[in-house]
Amino acid sequence: TKWVYRFGNGSADGAATMKNLLGGKGANLAEMSNLGLPVPPGFTITTEVCTYYYDHGQSYPDSLAGDVEAALAAVGDATGRRFGDTTNPLLLSVRSGARVSMPGMMDTVLNLGLNDITVKAIAESSGDPRFAWDSYRRFIQMYSDVVMGMDHHDFEEVLEDHKASKGYSLDTEITPDEWIGIVETFKALVEKELEKPFPQDPHEQLWGAIGAVFGSWQTTRAKTYRRLQDIPSSWGTAVNVQAMVFGNMGETSATGVAFTRNPSTGDKRLYGEFLVNAQGEDVVAGIRTPQDITEVARIEAGSENPSLEHLMPEAFAEFQTICDKLEAHYRDMQDLEFTIEKGKLWMLQTRAGKRTAKAALKIAVDMVAEGLLGEEEAVMRVEPAALDQLLHPTIDPSAERDIFATGLPASPGAASGAIVFSSDAAEAAKAAGQKVVLVRVETSPEDIHGMHAAEGILTSRGGMTSHAAVVARGMGKPCVSGAGTLRIDYRQGIVTCAGKTFREGDIITIDGASGQVLSGQVAMQQPTLSGDFGILMSWADKVRRMKVRTNAETPQDAKVALNFGAEGIGLCRTEHMFFEGERILAVREMILAETEKGRRSALSKLLPIQRKDFTELFVIMQGLPVTVRLLDPPLHEFLPKTPAELNDVALAMNVPLDALRERALALEEFNPMLGHRGCRLLVSYPEIAEMQARAIFEAAIAAGKETGSPVVPEIMVPLVGLKGELDLVRDVIVKTADAVMAETGTKVDYQVGTMVELPRAALQAAEIAKSAEFFSFGTNDLTQTTFGISRDDASSFLGTYQSKGLIEQDPFVSLDQEGVGELVKIGSERGRSTRPDIKLGICGEHGGDPASIHFCESVGLDYVSCSPFRVPIARLAAAQAAL
Ligand code: ADP
Ligand code: MG
Ligand code: MG
Repeated sequence: TKWVYRFGNGSADGAATMKNLLGGKGANLAEMSNLGLPVPPGFTITTEVCTYYYDHGQSYPDSLAGDVEAALAAVGDATGRRFGDTTNPLLLSVRSGARVSMPGMMDTVLNLGLNDITVKAIAESSGDPRFAWDSYRRFIQMYSDVVMGMDHHDFEEVLEDHKASKGYSLDTEITPDEWIGIVETFKALVEKELEKPFPQDPHEQLWGAIGAVFGSWQTTRAKTYRRLQDIPSSWGTAVNVQAMVFGNMGETSATGVAFTRNPSTGDKRLYGEFLVNAQGEDVVAGIRTPQDITEVARIEAGSENPSLEHLMPEAFAEFQTICDKLEAHYRDMQDLEFTIEKGKLWMLQTRAGKRTAKAALKIAVDMVAEGLLGEEEAVMRVEPAALDQLLHPTIDPSAERDIFATGLPASPGAASGAIVFSSDAAEAAKAAGQKVVLVRVETSPEDIHGMHAAEGILTSRGGMTSHAAVVARGMGKPCVSGAGTLRIDYRQGIVTCAGKTFREGDIITIDGASGQVLSGQVAMQQPTLSGDFGILMSWADKVRRMKVRTNAETPQDAKVALNFGAEGIGLCRTEHMFFEGERILAVREMILAETEKGRRSALSKLLPIQRKDFTELFVIMQGLPVTVRLLDPPLHEFLPKTPAELNDVALAMNVPLDALRERALALEEFNPMLGHRGCRLLVSYPEIAEMQARAIFEAAIAAGKETGSPVVPEIMVPLVGLKGELDLVRDVIVKTADAVMAETGTKVDYQVGTMVELPRAALQAAEIAKSAEFFSFGTNDLTQTTFGISRDDASSFLGTYQSKGLIEQDPFVSLDQEGVGELVKIGSERGRSTRPDIKLGICGEHGGDPASIHFCESVGLDYVSCSPFRVPIARLAAAQAAL
């Protein structure tokens, strides 16, 4: 086995395609060498050595030591130096490098190979003792910290004390002789702390560093990161050993980092920072303020500090050329690290640069125009979930922020408004034309109307999957959840935090992207679904196979979704129309009625309301398909809760309060999620289905007349487990359709189908499909019923399941492809076996989750349906899944 891959001097054993073996950094160093770019020579010890190391009781393959020696000799030849030599020593950097860049891995060690003797040789040969001793003290500091586990603060203290005693403010004021003294102090410190001297043997130093890189693969921090990011521990890390080049050799030397395009805007312009007379870590450490690389950026920033372009024009010009070359080669925006040693440019790293969603769109679209990418490749370049950032107003980056609390960034976007503490107050304020932020300890299903009315939601309790967070994301409302330092006092109507008190009506701003809570009104930027967004989406739509619909029942949601490109409604939850305003009274009458006659009387009050709602929705949808689900939730959810509410219903129904209370008690269920709901209600009370079907058909006719493009309603029966259930309800729907058509003399096209949300329905799909023209996989309930886990109760244990590695992801967020997914597959196959042209879709949270959308494509579903704000995400994810 080849354990060691060399690079440098215009060639390499490896290449960019070998990331798995060489890690990202090593593969790209090899690639740059092959391109003939100036890369300090070095070699990569492969990830397979890491695997070997852990499989063999933390020992190395026998031949490794020899291979490393040979590679070191080659680096020595290339540089005209020798590792460990006392007159012309080679110094090294040791860098970790996994396949993907990973926090928790060992930090880079620079200047390795320095000791009490070689430091003098370097001082001699460079003619710059200051540089030699500065490098040595850096090495002792870094090596003791990252390899030997000492605290780097101890060293910094020594430095600070020294500067204070001399009245210096900058490191550069320290004289060479003083550095020698500081090095002595550093070494003494190591010996005292670790009870052994700082290693003087360069080989011991090198193997110590290599061992530390492999060791860092199994630190708690690295393991945690891998678990969160789903990175297998079998991947291992590589180690890169490379000849040092020195950015700290005086005023003609420098070190810096750059992006080939602006990573936050995507502008095609070199963007980066550097420091003169410095080594790598100085740029990030913030000891000195880095300078702009280009003259344009310097002028824009109004900085007095000269740019690299100005200071070292030749090195800059070469760097610019290399940037262009690398971009064209990788066909992507690059994130680069470089060092200039006495005017000579060296490339130390390149990789695809991280970027904002806005930049990702612009770069992808620009690169197509530049001929670097094809449209389909561009579509693959933008991460669907990142689009979320673009769809909401955000805080103006230049605005002043008075932050008084911070919670979780639960739903993106920013919102300002007056504080309200209850959903009723939110609704009232909104009706009065006021913008409000709903502030609650936590929210529950009863707060839906308040959340709708509010501009944003702030809670002091609850995580990223709390009710507030999930519902807010679905609504596309900004939300900050779990801001634990807030003390909310509903009784007094105040919220206190960090010594500040806010009352109801005080204006605050929440930033759902950062989790910050700010006092007062803060300037916002409106989302611009810019040209780039539209262009990329049009490319995505060209390659997409699945349709994208939305889950919506309010006109507002439907309009938003249409605006985002929804191609129909995949789930209209009719019960959501039941809660609003005075309707709830009629609904309660219907539920509490003891007889069919009583129910019909209440239903007759609901009919015109539902008809009006459906008409409005159908008009908005202009002939696009609309799936309307018949009443689903358990009846008791609508029951009056307070004595006053009970009283209202009793009055309206003209029945004694006691009798009503008893009826209400009788409707209580132990386990409503598995109780009298869905089609079970419609089987018990077919007149509900009849009223709803009538409202739908009459609305379809009315809307068709108004718009000229008649909607073809798809009526969906929820919670079916038996074909017989569907047949019963279907029969009511068909009879109602016939009646309405006879009455009006107008023909209505429609379909009847079912939600597949019980395992039995998936298993019996062949039978059920005989009566269903479409299936919609209701994966929220299907996940609950497959796992036997209640979504509302899952938060108390699913977190533990995740941390113990039993499940990777919350199955309510991303579809459990093995279990629930298998039922979707079975349901699809069996449904098609008896009805080949059956229409198949998915509704529920998963319809907007990119990974779940990929799965839907693999099963061959016809469409996904998701909340309005996820429609663009779903369009892009569906396109990527099709490619
Ligand atoms: P990270 O993965 O944290 O970016 P790197 O291995 O890229 O770590 O090293 C960090 C910095 O150390 C580099 O940006 C560079 O400035 C410096 N560095 C690494 N290798 C060398 C080298 N051979 N010569 C000079 N500086 C180096
Ligand atoms: Mg780096
Ligand atoms: Mg359901």
